[in-house]
Amino acid sequence: MGTITLKKGKEESLKRMHPWVFSGAIASTTGEFNEGDLVEVKSFNGEFLGVGHYQIGSIAVRILSFTERKIDKSFWEERIKAAYTLRQKLGLTHSDSNNTYRLVHGEGDNLPGLIIDIYGDSAVMQAHSVGMHYVRQEIAEVIVDVIKEVKNVYYKSETTLPYKATLTDGGKEDGYLIGGCDGEPVSTENGLKFHIDWLRGQKTGFFIDQRENRALLEKYSKGKDVLNMFCYTGGFSCYALRGGAKTVDSVDSSAKAIDLTNKNVELNFDKETQDRHHAFAIDAFKYLDDIKDKYDLIILDPPAFAKHRSAIRNALQGYRKLNAKAFEQIKPNGIIFTFSCSQAIDKEQFRLAVFSAAAQSKRKVRILHQMTQPQDHPINIYHPEGEYLKGLVLYVE
Ligand code: SAH
Repeated sequence: MGTITLKKGKEESLKRMHPWVFSGAIASTTGEFNEGDLVEVKSFNGEFLGVGHYQIGSIAVRILSFTERKIDKSFWEERIKAAYTLRQKLGLTHSDSNNTYRLVHGEGDNLPGLIIDIYGDSAVMQAHSVGMHYVRQEIAEVIVDVIKEVKNVYYKSETTLPYKATLTDGGKEDGYLIGGCDGEPVSTENGLKFHIDWLRGQKTGFFIDQRENRALLEKYSKGKDVLNMFCYTGGFSCYALRGGAKTVDSVDSSAKAIDLTNKNVELNFDKETQDRHHAFAIDAFKYLDDIKDKYDLIILDPPAFAKHRSAIRNALQGYRKLNAKAFEQIKPNGIIFTFSCSQAIDKEQFRLAVFSAAAQSKRKVRILHQMTQPQDHPINIYHPEGEYLKGLVLYVE
């Protein structure tokens, strides 16, 4: 195994169990290693700090273990079992009303570079590092060993692996590593059913991270005219309908998303309830221009406006503009559920953007709830960067 030795003083964050080694912290290397290989990381004084996957880029090593140990199948098994134990404790694994949950949330489960989502008897796995890509088959085998219900493992990393990576084992095509699934898989979340299209959909096919926030929205929906902006598969729309909303309008710029939303509404509700729902494939900013006093409840869950730190300024402008439009248009005494999933923007920055939008509209605005990601997207306390989803429920007079 190759070794990476850090510059003097650069060992501190690793000693505090932060799992990333930045390329600028490296003093020297010994031995030969390629992208995706395991490397040992040592301090300037030669002290062992950790072992992890090497990658070309600003994050040079993602640490898997801070103690000296072999990274083999039994290691993956131990970590995946630990992740599964947490989901069992959370009541997510054997529930009649829910079989949709995140099994592995990267650094939050001490498995940097790896995401695994569970949809009933299928797991969808995503590698964000070349190292995780190389062990994908081993990990797939561990998943079906640890979770008896899982029969299929689909690998979906074409868009998440570094695009410049040269892979020594034949490419990064998406596909089943174990089993296979015909037809259209349906998964259950809090008693509602959803078609999950992991082959063509965004992320692993569904935004599991909004589960708790959708449940909160349901409680606010009774008798309301609801607008679900950036609806994707219509998660919030279905909860609002079940919560007794008078009408629900779903908006997304993607026609495919609108089809999925309509299909999911049909899957869950009778004709009469379906008639209370309408979906529009149109740009959010355009749609928000012309809805004065039409809605009592507006959900704003846009895609990450800042995918990198360099985009923070523009992203904050984007959040301000979007929220300002909602503040201008919402009925008196209305409620806004507003979110940001940009990891590069923290909750204070997001709140400030929403504050500016509120101030611009000159309406009285109060915060009723502060929302975050659910428990199956845990934040490793030593890796605060893992906190990415933030949201506010606002009362607008
Ligand atoms: N709220 C969703 C997830 C939203 S993902 C859920 O609970 O599952 C973001 C969505 O925004 C995507 O479906 C994308 O197609 C849509 N989108 C991106 N830009 C948009 C725009 N300018 N106007 C409308 N929708 C947009």
